[in-house]
Amino acid sequence: MPESGPPLTLVLGGGLAGALLALLLAQRGLRVQVLERRADPRQQVQERGRSINLALAARGIDALEFAGLMPAVRPLMMPMRGRQLHETDGSQRFLSYGQRPEEEIYAISRHALNCALLDAATAHPDVTVRFGQRCVEVDPITGTLVTEDEHGRRRREQADVVLACDGAGSVARRTMVEQGLCDAHEDWLPHGYLELTIPADADGRHRLAPEALHIWPRGGHMLIALPNPDGSFTCTLFLPHDGQPGFAQLRDPGTVETFFRDQFPDALALMPALAEEFLANPVGRLGTVRTRPWHAGGRLLLLGDAAHAIVPFHGQGMNCAFEDCRDLARCVETHAGDWPTLLPVFEAQRRPSAEAIADMALENYVEMRDTVRDPGFALKKALAFELERALPELFIPRYSMVMFHPEISYAEAQRRGARQDRLLDELTAGHQALEEIDLAQAVRRVRRQLADTVDR
Ligand SMILES: Cc1cc2nc3c(=O)[nH]c(=O)nc-3n(C[C@H](O)[C@H](O)[C@H](O)COP(=O)(O)OP(=O)(O)OC[C@H]3O[C@@H](n4cnc5c(N)ncnc54)[C@H](O)[C@@H]3O)c2cc1C
Repeated sequence: MPESGPPLTLVLGGGLAGALLALLLAQRGLRVQVLERRADPRQQVQERGRSINLALAARGIDALEFAGLMPAVRPLMMPMRGRQLHETDGSQRFLSYGQRPEEEIYAISRHALNCALLDAATAHPDVTVRFGQRCVEVDPITGTLVTEDEHGRRRREQADVVLACDGAGSVARRTMVEQGLCDAHEDWLPHGYLELTIPADADGRHRLAPEALHIWPRGGHMLIALPNPDGSFTCTLFLPHDGQPGFAQLRDPGTVETFFRDQFPDALALMPALAEEFLANPVGRLGTVRTRPWHAGGRLLLLGDAAHAIVPFHGQGMNCAFEDCRDLARCVETHAGDWPTLLPVFEAQRRPSAEAIADMALENYVEMRDTVRDPGFALKKALAFELERALPELFIPRYSMVMFHPEISYAEAQRRGARQDRLLDELTAGHQALEEIDLAQAVRRVRRQLADTVDR
């Protein structure tokens, strides 16, 4: 097995976090090598059925701006201003995400974003990316790892530090667990996901309003659709693996079409290749990974999904992984690249936020598939906007804190959100409409009861 060159920083995984991290570290004077198991995505067509587009929000944008990448990324972004709810009877309702013009999130192609990040990383003279290199072993104590290429050829790599961005199924995490260096808990949801397409119309235009994330909430399951720049929508069906309805039960064109006719009739009308796609695409698993600690031996760190994969219902996994990259780059600056010192500092800083967004993402699943239909939910949301207008320093709806306020950590958003929610419950109790609520009194109560929740 050949030894590689002199010590350097190894980034394992050239996905979303790995590519951004490599660039950020090179910008701070480090020599970085990225090892990625797949072929170069810039020379491939995009994979079928694996979270083709994602929601990018302010936290991710903040980290991309920190790396100077927004000029390359902005043209890829499709704005979404709110949720367009589709009922079974075909009626639709729009619920705005925020109340200021800039309070929108953006659909973006995973493939296009990954290619843009890799373009920027590989353009830096201190970054090399080797594709087709699957890591099969990591030694957290010595900082060595072994990769295998498509021909089964193995190669040993030695580094100052290994930064593992190898995703939810991380080999680095598995090794740390096997060696007793960390605990990892994986909680899988009973629901899986499957991706489908609403193609563009004959003129290449979107068949649904493009500036929204479309949701068909049905209680125990839901369908969502995010717009693509080519006029299509990528839809994701979230459904239990077993039970009725469940993926296990939908095995032929007849049952698939009957299910859609029953549950999502307006979407069915827009999906000419539904059954074919449904039966060809994989059903993905959804889970939360909680790991402790994220680092070992002063030479290995897990970040992004490798450390803390979360369910996708707040659209924050990538956004959180990008914040990890930005914060690690800042730690490298502050601690002059002293890895044994900075790895625990980084983890102490990021862990509370990663744990908070994992919980909030799980809560948001219930909101998206169920509570969003509840009139009480709409009333609380309307009152929350009123309170934010009156007291923007003191009251920001939790969804807005997570999606539009990167200066508020996820942990603080969770803490403030819990207090706000209790107050909203009290203020809306027994009311059906905003006009029934004494707003002046509500504002006074917020001032009195929430003044101490804000970190100054
Ligand atoms: C259905 C779905 C929808 C989602 N929607 C959103 C959303 O709207 N917004 C959002 O912010 N997040 C979303 N996410 C989460 C988001 O996809 C992840 O949080 C994000 O991809 C994490 O980035 P990462 O770089 O840590 O991991 P990944 O993107 O998984 O990248 C890991 C990389 O490591 C490589 N790799 C893996 N193993 C090895 C190995 N042994 N050797 C070498 N290389 C290896 C992989 O090939 C890959 O390139 C969604 C996830 C899912 C499943």
